[in-house]
Amino acid sequence: MNSTLPIILIFVLGLVFGSFLTVLIPRIHDEESGMFIGRSHCPWCKKTLRARDLIPIISYIINKAKCRFCKEKIGIIYPAIELSTAIIFTITYLTFPYPQFLFYLAISFALIFTFFYDLKYLEISDIILIPSIILALLLGPEDWKSKLIGIAIGAGFFLIQIIISKGKWVGMGDIRIGTLMGALLGWQMTIAALVISYVIGSIISIGLLASKKKHLNQQIALGPFLVTGTFITIFMGEKIVNWYLNLLI
Ligand SMILES: [Zn+2]
Repeated sequence: MNSTLPIILIFVLGLVFGSFLTVLIPRIHDEESGMFIGRSHCPWCKKTLRARDLIPIISYIINKAKCRFCKEKIGIIYPAIELSTAIIFTITYLTFPYPQFLFYLAISFALIFTFFYDLKYLEISDIILIPSIILALLLGPEDWKSKLIGIAIGAGFFLIQIIISKGKWVGMGDIRIGTLMGALLGWQMTIAALVISYVIGSIISIGLLASKKKHLNQQIALGPFLVTGTFITIFMGEKIVNWYLNLLI
């Protein structure tokens, strides 16, 4: 079999799952806040979208980033979710052999969900995150001791900040992402993921403040940085740690 064919199939599968996420994220948010709106509708005119409006990326380009019915602008976040899911699925496929790659696909799905949910609503939803913590505990590659110490470090890091700042710096949702990091990565890589997350977070936050897109008193979601740090650690954690250790010697 042509070796590029599975890669194309995984990329398309990622687009489909990403498209599913664009429906799932607002749906879960609306259900949690008690207002149920049906699926696959335009968020403005509520018109039910047809199959031709729901092709990942392509519909967005053909319809020129607008709803076909009311011409209201559709946010760039929708194709961004679809494309990033496709890219992450492809990297997962290229990084891990079968069957581990199925485990990492499920974890990636939960992480991408958490990234965009927090970005959009400044909240963490447990519906996908808690099952992914259980999955990481049961099937994750680390041994139990490393998982439990990892959870103590990942969750404890945010718990201490909540106690010191009385909940102003970080939220309870960040404790749950810390728990996932610990269960998934084990204790050494949890520390690496936290450091990477905070380095990226600082750079982006300074950028946002400098460009006046955010102000000092405005909340910047931490979840997307933690997810990014976790992804980088999953895919290149060992390389980065080795590189860092080589710098010290
Ligand atoms: Zn519309």
